[in-house]
Amino acid sequence: MDGKDMAAMLEEAGVEPTAVRLAVTHVLADGERALPAGDILRKVRETMPVNKVTLYRILDLFVRQGLASRHSSGDRAFRYCLGPRFSGRAHGHAYCLRCGRMACLPATRDLVDVAALGRSLDMDVVGVEVRIDGVCAACRLAAEKGGTGGAVEDGAVVDDAPGKN
Ligand SMILES: [Zn+2]
Ligand SMILES: [Zn+2]
Repeated sequence: MDGKDMAAMLEEAGVEPTAVRLAVTHVLADGERALPAGDILRKVRETMPVNKVTLYRILDLFVRQGLASRHSSGDRAFRYCLGPRFSGRAHGHAYCLRCGRMACLPATRDLVDVAALGRSLDMDVVGVEVRIDGVCAACRLAAEKGGTGGAVEDGAVVDDAPGKN
């Protein structure tokens, strides 16, 4: 997806495509994993100044409009990735308890039979959150080598440089 497509997608979702919002979209679209706000902040700042309040507002807006998905993890930092509106699929995640990496998985329908689930619960299912907790290959390898595990991701947002919305 290029910048023009992203701008069109934001507009379609009723979100004015400002430079900062597009930068956030680029970061979300970049990876194959869900990122804590602190990581998103650092990556956006590689291209432009933005303060954390602005970033959190944008993430909230994106979640509301279905452009981003927010996922709880084993630690206190939510992880964000592209929502169904951008990615075209609701999907599950694999979360590493050691290093905090949260990898995006294939579409939920490949993980869970949503229709069967709805029937068994007698429910109109509108969403399913799948999170698989475990130890990732890199951390397992590090442990086998007698290391202390993978690098711990810092989910906290630390600094607060000025920026604009
Ligand atoms: Zn790991
Ligand atoms: Zn994801």
